[in-house]
Amino acid sequence: MHRIGLANSISRNEGNDPKEALRFALDHGFEVIQIVVGRNVRKNMENREDIFLSEVRNKGTELVCHEGNNITSEIKIYRQLLKGQKKKRVVIHHSERNSKKIDKLTPEFTPLLENYHSGIERDEIEDWLSSLKLYEKVGPVLDVPRFFNRVNSMEEVVRRKDVLTKVFGEITSLERPIHLRFVDRKLEAKDRTWRALGEGVVPFEEFVTEPLAETGILEFEEKRKVLRSRDRLEKLI
Ligand SMILES: [Zn+2]
Repeated sequence: MHRIGLANSISRNEGNDPKEALRFALDHGFEVIQIVVGRNVRKNMENREDIFLSEVRNKGTELVCHEGNNITSEIKIYRQLLKGQKKKRVVIHHSERNSKKIDKLTPEFTPLLENYHSGIERDEIEDWLSSLKLYEKVGPVLDVPRFFNRVNSMEEVVRRKDVLTKVFGEITSLERPIHLRFVDRKLEAKDRTWRALGEGVVPFEEFVTEPLAETGILEFEEKRKVLRSRDRLEKLI
């Protein structure tokens, strides 16, 4: 994996202030910051050319936008946040509206399609994969922990890992840079009770060494876990 990034969910304890996340990412030298363009981002950042954004640009940190609720009304802020970047990437959730969203974003932005609806449900994964095959300019975002939602036994972990390996093989064969999404969780953990990488059941080791795994986004909601997770990833890559 070439770069490690974090998501603005990191500032959840600071009222989700996106600037708090930018500050932290800059201070700790993360190379990519994924920003979900929700209400908070619009409230705090829209039409403001603030100091954090210039610092992000000066350091060459890449911002990646993630759709909030409505691409049409968010395009203006994607443009503002991604200004001056060679790559202007926007993550969208896989859905029946893929083609509409992709039409709105291209050619100005490069859409990245996330396996959002897809858990291990084979049909949905197949659907996501066919969309990726259909839209040649769209990059894959693979949410790894999603495959391990609500697993209660190690047998199930192994089964889901097999599915993940197959899916990963298929997106690798597309030969496009892959964005990976990580958190970890224990067996029988409640939803959103994340662990740092290496402290739960989510396998990440074998995927991060693949040359097409371009970016790994650590999607934690607090800071210590993101730093611990980065230490573990850095040892592998
Ligand atoms: Zn998402």
